[in-house]
Order: sequence, then structure tokens, then C-alpha cells
Amino acid sequence: MIDPELRELYQEIILDHGRHPRHFGQLEGANREADGHNPLCGDKVRVYLRVDNDDKIEDVMFDGRGCAISIASASMMTELLTGKNVSEGKALMDAFLSMVKGEDACFEGVDEDDLDQLQAMSGVSEFPMRVKCATLAWHTFAAAADGTQEATTE
Ligand code: ZN
Repeated sequence: MIDPELRELYQEIILDHGRHPRHFGQLEGANREADGHNPLCGDKVRVYLRVDNDDKIEDVMFDGRGCAISIASASMMTELLTGKNVSEGKALMDAFLSMVKGEDACFEGVDEDDLDQLQAMSGVSEFPMRVKCATLAWHTFAAAADGTQEATTE
């Protein structure tokens, strides 16, 4: 269970990101991108990455339309991924996926500040219908990183 005060803080963070998404728009000079679709809710996002030769994510942006949770999650993800290696990004994704599914998450090697940010989304685990909204951007990031171009939560 989440502490009620924390829950309120988390809701504020999510609302803020949903209303004022960070890194929103098309990324000039992107060298990887993918489209993600969550048919259950109708969320659609496109994630753009600029990855250097060492697999470092120099820049990440997203655009699309969706519910507040899907947009907030994408916005928070772009902040977390900027400057990380692709492999570090995927480790964050794994931690996040287990967190929102209410499973024991592995946070080994995850930075503490990053963990705080991820935890803000963890309340979604109480709303199983919204889990796919929250994870859509991350699946789309993984597809872009792998050169798959399309991701779906189904
Ligand atoms: Zn949604």
C-alpha cells in the first residue's frame, strides 16, 4: 500500500506531466523511432531517439495522443532516458514494468533519483486497466531501440 501523502504527491506529479508533457514533439535528427498503440484505451505514441555510436541516448522525444496516464508516463520516461545507455534504459523499463504489475521489481543498478521518479507511477498498479496506458511508452522505446518500429500493448 502507498502512503496517502505520497499518493497525493504522486498524483500531482502525474497530473503535471499529463498537462505539461516534457520533450513533446518531433525530434530533429532522430535515428530511431517507433509507433506504439494501446488498443484497450486508444493511446498512440511515437517515440524518437537519437542514439550515438556508443549506444548512448543523446536525446529522446515523443508525440501522440492518449489519456493522461499514457502521456504522463511517456513524459516521465523521456526525462529518465536522456543521457542513459540503451541497456540502462531497458533496465529501468524492466524495473518499471514489474513495479506497475505489482511484482517484485529488481532495482539493482537503478539510480535513487530515477527510482523516485519511477515510483511516482507505481500507484498505477492499483488500477489494472491503466497498466497498459502506463507501459505503452516504455514498450515503444524498446521497439525503437531494437529497430522494430512498432509496438503494441496487446
Ligand atoms: Zn490510456
